[in-house]
Amino acid sequence: MAKYIFVTGGVVSSLGKGIISSSIGKLLQARGYKITIQKFDPYINIDPGTLNPYEHGECYVTVDGMETDLDLGHYERFTGIQTTRANSMTTGRIYKSVIDKERRGDYLGKTIQVVPHITDEIKSNIRHLGETGDYDFVITEIGGTIGDIESAPFLEAIRQLKWELGREAVSIHLTYVPYLKAADELKTKPTQHSVKEMLSYGIQPDILILRTEKHLDDNMRMKVAGFCNVDLECVIQSEDLPSIYEVPVNMQKQGLDSAILRKMGIPVGETPALGPWREFLELRRNATEVVRIGMVGKYDLQDAYKSISESLSHAATYNNRKIEISFINSEFLTPQDIETKLAPMDGLVICPGFGQRGTEGKILAVEYARRHDVPCFGICLGMQMMVIEFARNVLGYADANSSELDPSTPHNVIDMMEDQKNISDMGGTMRLGAYDCRLDPKSRVAEIYRATEVSERHRHRYEFNSAYIAEFEEAGMKCVGRNPATDLVEIVEIPSLKWFVGTQFHPEYQSTVLHPHPLFMSFIKAAIG
Ligand code: GLN
Repeated sequence: MAKYIFVTGGVVSSLGKGIISSSIGKLLQARGYKITIQKFDPYINIDPGTLNPYEHGECYVTVDGMETDLDLGHYERFTGIQTTRANSMTTGRIYKSVIDKERRGDYLGKTIQVVPHITDEIKSNIRHLGETGDYDFVITEIGGTIGDIESAPFLEAIRQLKWELGREAVSIHLTYVPYLKAADELKTKPTQHSVKEMLSYGIQPDILILRTEKHLDDNMRMKVAGFCNVDLECVIQSEDLPSIYEVPVNMQKQGLDSAILRKMGIPVGETPALGPWREFLELRRNATEVVRIGMVGKYDLQDAYKSISESLSHAATYNNRKIEISFINSEFLTPQDIETKLAPMDGLVICPGFGQRGTEGKILAVEYARRHDVPCFGICLGMQMMVIEFARNVLGYADANSSELDPSTPHNVIDMMEDQKNISDMGGTMRLGAYDCRLDPKSRVAEIYRATEVSERHRHRYEFNSAYIAEFEEAGMKCVGRNPATDLVEIVEIPSLKWFVGTQFHPEYQSTVLHPHPLFMSFIKAAIG
């Protein structure tokens, strides 16, 4: 039977619950256990697909085409285990499912209430993956902060589950210990209040993880243990570290995984060595030379392109370089300042996106990369920008565009996919998830992948307009990746340049710490030169 680990957060948001959940997963996996991690978000949206990245950062896409929270990206990057739609849940989906059941008459005339109907739905979704028999541990991260009105049904569900499961469930609560500069003191009071809040929901946390800028001494930890009814070995600190990838090692050093096992009455055994993981960290620490990548996009927010920046960072590490990513806001990129902004870059990533804003700047950046032969990687909308730039400046169609950006253009080199034309709902209706792609065996990408059949994840409505394929190929931009079933163009490449590749899919969703993505590896290698 699967065992359950609940991860909640208190005091403030952005403490890194996702990183802690991923680290727990990593440490248990290293002990030979089969694990999975799921995220429950208390907001009412069905999924984050319709959310602006300013609201919630990047939208991460699973193989089976669910648009999910960016924490699922951390889960996959840390553990290498693929997630699916079952690993992501929101209040919106919980309510939708309950309301659908009510309409079908499944509740036999009962009054539908938050307790027990919503909480039962949450509980059955939490247990769903555990009941498949595929996992020893199911780690459930609850989004938001304790005390939010939205979180209450989730906490009630956890309280009930802890009661039903006894030792088969542990609750881990992440809090913040602020440092007051004027007093030169670390303060544990917010932690005590947060645990009190948990207790008011009937949940006694078994393990506390304290986020802190400065080291907490044993006295401090003892105080927290005493005030919060937690064993001393279960008061763990998560100090600021140079990289999120140091967190699992730091957690292991303090015995987080053994504390979990002991709480559940499982023999602890030997501490796993985490060999390849430590080698990765060693490479990161030893890298001194820098590779500079410009990310050309419209969202001035580090979380908006999380998976891309992590993929670049994995690839730089394995190429013995430190990554230095500069965000270049395409909305403000002009022919006048482009040289100053782009010349210092060893390589450029043209970012994904939706809508008109910032697209002309992206096209300028592509033109700069093509004319100066700077390694350039276009991802999704970025690939479409490569195609439009080529159509305008090489094929001579000055008005070439995507019908998303200019519906009346006569040269719609990027056009809406046939099966998208009659869709009116925005949510969850794009071409989503993993699709096969067949590579031209003579292409650079086939050499990079060392394969001719790959599978990559998508999130888009528009595609390369196949009416133009011959013209592009003749002029030097090759369509080197095609979907074997539909023939859609998935990859373009200009073979005469050092490295100029655009992918309609998002390779960044598949790069993990131990398996960096071949396209990013090769792009970084080219950028190093
Ligand atoms: N807006 C483009 C489309 O829908 C690209 C999407 C993306 O970059 N993810 O096709």
